Amino acid sequence: MNRLFAGTVFDVPPRCEICNELTAECKCSWQVKQDWEAKKKLESQRLPPEKQACRVVIQKRKGGRVATVVEGLTHQATDLNVLFKKLQGSCGAGGTVKPEENLLELQGDHVAKVQKLLSDLGFKVKK
Ligand SMILES: [Zn+2]
Repeated sequence: MNRLFAGTVFDVPPRCEICNELTAECKCSWQVKQDWEAKKKLESQRLPPEKQACRVVIQKRKGGRVATVVEGLTHQATDLNVLFKKLQGSCGAGGTVKPEENLLELQGDHVAKVQKLLSDLGFKVKK
């Protein structure tokens, strides 16, 4: 197959996306390539925050404690662990990420703060 810029100064020989060596000289293992493909697939499923809507609710826990829960964001569309660290850092609270349930949970009432942080990041926050 002819490459688009074959024969011009823009004719760049194909390189491995992972190690950046010429494809012919690439020594990336099968496993490395599998991981790379998996990561690319994951990233292709990510959505920008403005395409995602979420809701921040308070849930009551045993002993009268409350938790701030973010619902509606999926682990496919957003790296929930990264997002959680941002929220946790700003609220200074403990909590957990529940990727299977697509939930983020912070201990205590941080609804107003979390709503503001999420909308500052570009998420649509349903009230
Ligand atoms: Zn390579």
